[in-house]
Amino acid sequence: MNGGLSCDGDSVALTAATQPSIEEIVLGALPGLPKIAVHWPLIDFECGPETGADNFIAWWHKADRGELEPFVLVVEGSIPNEAIHDGQGYWAGFGNNPATGQPMKTSEWLDRLAPKATAVVAVGTCATYGGIHAMAGNPTGAMGVPDYLGWSWKSKAGLPIVCVPGCPIHPDNLSETLVYLLYQVAGQAPMIPLDSELRPQWLFGRTVHEGCDRAGYYEQGDFAKEYGSPKCLVKLGCWGPVVNCNVPKRGWINGVGGCPNVGGICIACTMPGFPDKFMPFMDEPFGSKVSTTASMVYGTVIRRLRKYTLNQNNKEPKWRHKGSELTTGYEK
Ligand code: SF4
Ligand code: SF4
Ligand code: SF4
Repeated sequence: MNGGLSCDGDSVALTAATQPSIEEIVLGALPGLPKIAVHWPLIDFECGPETGADNFIAWWHKADRGELEPFVLVVEGSIPNEAIHDGQGYWAGFGNNPATGQPMKTSEWLDRLAPKATAVVAVGTCATYGGIHAMAGNPTGAMGVPDYLGWSWKSKAGLPIVCVPGCPIHPDNLSETLVYLLYQVAGQAPMIPLDSELRPQWLFGRTVHEGCDRAGYYEQGDFAKEYGSPKCLVKLGCWGPVVNCNVPKRGWINGVGGCPNVGGICIACTMPGFPDKFMPFMDEPFGSKVSTTASMVYGTVIRRLRKYTLNQNNKEPKWRHKGSELTTGYEK
């Protein structure tokens, strides 16, 4: 469901997944995976009159009536607060309510479907924590799914809300999480391990910095002063040392890319405090001034010592030469 406040970027991202791909999931190419159907606005070809039995939105009404069992509700986009305006209009909706002919609000779909779903997955930073639409000063009161349903909410199968943040989400982080849940529902995997922010632990347990190609430069106190440099980007505004995200380690698509690896600062797009707590983007994070100063002091000494050792090791040993004399140190 991408009827919340959303740009559909996470749906688009999922089409680029390779490990596994959405095609592999839908076509059942993975051993032991339950057979599934996907009702997904981005790719679904079903359309037609609102009342038609085969139209796209009919599946949502079937789920609401309890005729679709079991199902996993995947939510993209933040949930606006429909209780804060004067009742005129609405912030976000998805299809029509057959009883009234009026648009069905996104929050109403959540109210109706969440209690019937085997699992609820929030995808992208908007759906998980509110994201861009939930910035300070926004008029909609937007929030993430855990803020809406409650952080301790559990599905009828006993699963907490599963949050996979990112703006957009990493394609494989989403496809892998969906596969994990499908295996769990099929009884082939234990309860999905989540951290305190409801993220899969194996995906979000490390920082950007810990997987960054440029971490060696940071450790040696060697920082880029302008874009185009291969050095560490912290002084250009990278938040990587304090951000939970596996993108530099995993690469963006098919293992290639990953923000700081390819020259882009980490703006912390997976984090619950995004974007407010990390702005203005492209300014050096205040806290990094202490750590980079320490790193520069240490790094200046270490770099000299390493350069000396490097120069020594860049030469062949002296016994490799022509002539009648053996000088390797070998003794009979
Ligand atoms: Fe778009 Fe980012 Fe929100 Fe996803 S998290 S819907 S990519 S703004
Ligand atoms: Fe860490 Fe960012 Fe520097 Fe990479 S570019 S080493 S993530 S501070
Ligand atoms: Fe977002 Fe930073 Fe991860 Fe890039 S590295 S996806 S900017 S959290």
